[in-house]
Amino acid sequence: MIVVKMGGSQGVDADGVCADLAEVAEQGERVVLVHGGSHETNVISEKLGHPPRFVTSVTGHSSRYTDRRTVEILSMVIAGRINTLLVERLQRLHVNALGLSGVDGRLLEAKRKSSLRAVEGAKRVVLRGEYSGRIERVNAPLLRSLLEDGYLPVVAPLAISHEHEIVNVDGDRAAAAIGAALRATAVVLLTNVPGVLSDPDDETSVVERIPLDGVEHALECYAEGRMKRKLLGALESLQAGVGRVVIADGRGERPLRRALAGEGTVIQ
Ligand code: ADP
Repeated sequence: MIVVKMGGSQGVDADGVCADLAEVAEQGERVVLVHGGSHETNVISEKLGHPPRFVTSVTGHSSRYTDRRTVEILSMVIAGRINTLLVERLQRLHVNALGLSGVDGRLLEAKRKSSLRAVEGAKRVVLRGEYSGRIERVNAPLLRSLLEDGYLPVVAPLAISHEHEIVNVDGDRAAAAIGAALRATAVVLLTNVPGVLSDPDDETSVVERIPLDGVEHALECYAEGRMKRKLLGALESLQAGVGRVVIADGRGERPLRRALAGEGTVIQ
């Protein structure tokens, strides 16, 4: 059983990933696909007159301020268009894909973070009305029964809070949590870089192997912002018994095949 996360930034080749998924599924492997959608959400938010707002947290990271309207746009774009188009693509390849978000059947249950502490100019501000969360529970029986019945679940990374509200969650952490809950043999994170880079500006500097006890070091030394979340997710999945986590290139030919063959960064 493998979990594949397809990044939401520009460049990742959805056709290539879906073709590989069809082949892997054909060979009898059970797969859960998690996808992103950050880029498209930003574009559509602009068009709807509710441009994305990124704030700098007190620890210096940039994060999206997700108010209720943003969560509704996310559900439209990620759980709607992106998810359904992926299901269509897979169905065209004769894969019985079934789309759902973490809200459906309480697939992903999260603790809501209702305010963000941010820095604006020289001032510290508290932004209330935030709808993002951290996944605390995965409805593994739901996924198992879908897999058992031959479906390939396509998961949009939204979650339901303990208070029953939709919250935004990070796609990489969602894939990691699902992988952990299902004790996946592999979690593959396909992104727009060839792997974890020792120099983020140099695509030839891929760190090919990271042992479990080397993740902390990698977190300190290489990873900034977005890559940090992938490594944190990797750590959580491996600690929960996932066989390996691969962070690999989603661009170009046969992205999933290449990642499963060991290209990119393998964390084990
Ligand atoms: P996706 O939506 O495809 O998952 P992300 O934006 O979440 O993509 O994460 C990938 C990004 O992480 C890269 O485009 C790169 O800008 C950034 N990054 C930061 N540090 C590193 C690093 N050490 N190696 C590779 N990428 C890094």
